[in-house]
Amino acid sequence: VVVVKCGGAVPAEAVCADLAGLAGRAVLVHGGGPDIDRLARELGVPARTLVSPSGVTSRHTDPAMLDAVTLALTGRVKPRLLRALAAAGVPAVGLTGLDGGLLLARRKPAQRAVRDGRTVIVRDDHSGRVTGVRPEALRALLGAGFVPVVSPPATGEDGAPVNVDADRAAAAVAGALGADRLVLLTAAPGLLRDARDEATFLDRCALPHEGPVPHAATGGMHRKLVAAREALLAGVPRVSVCDGRVPRPVTAALAGAGTTLE
Ligand code: ADP
Repeated sequence: VVVVKCGGAVPAEAVCADLAGLAGRAVLVHGGGPDIDRLARELGVPARTLVSPSGVTSRHTDPAMLDAVTLALTGRVKPRLLRALAAAGVPAVGLTGLDGGLLLARRKPAQRAVRDGRTVIVRDDHSGRVTGVRPEALRALLGAGFVPVVSPPATGEDGAPVNVDADRAAAAVAGALGADRLVLLTAAPGLLRDARDEATFLDRCALPHEGPVPHAATGGMHRKLVAAREALLAGVPRVSVCDGRVPRPVTAALAGAGTTLE
């Protein structure tokens, strides 16, 4: 089984067409940052960022934003992917982490954030981290020859939706399924030593088992390295960050393109 995570800035059609030979053997995981931001603007929901005391940024998912996240992922991104998969002749079924308790998460009821130079306690954030995966629904769909298309939100401990990072969700799914590969497709050739210079592309990168991830990767790429480490620690033998903008992104990734994390 291959778990492919498709980033928000990756053209979906090429990824979906490239999954044609992998029905029953691939799970597609997606987020959708740009679509969430667009829908939030349309709904008049302000997009805000939380900055932790250690400098890590994340989306402030207050109740209105949680609705925008759920609506954008299930109402825009997922239908687009399902349509592209259908056009490529790939039988696919869309799920969120709420379906069959697929993704279980723990929400942080209170967290520290830095705002205007002061540390404040934020209590209305509905995001958290994946604590478990119930892979039964995925196994059933794969066994029946489908490509499951999975996204946040996850199921919180009280059953309420919790926003989670899609890269880390993909890592948890890959670990729970005992997948052979995790491919994180994004709008970069892979990991770069210098994010602004594609000539600094790294073919492979060793991740420390704990502590900070290397190469001063920021934002989304930093989260991908954290996700990659989680997948490796969960026993996924091969994890890579690859370019999703090439004509056959999955084929290229499986053939060894991108950065292999180890
Ligand atoms: P996605 O939507 O694909 O999940 P993000 O946009 O959140 O991805 O994160 C990927 C982005 O991270 C890349 O497109 C790139 O602009 C940025 N980035 C930051 N640091 C690095 C780095 N060291 N190497 C490559 N990309 C980096």
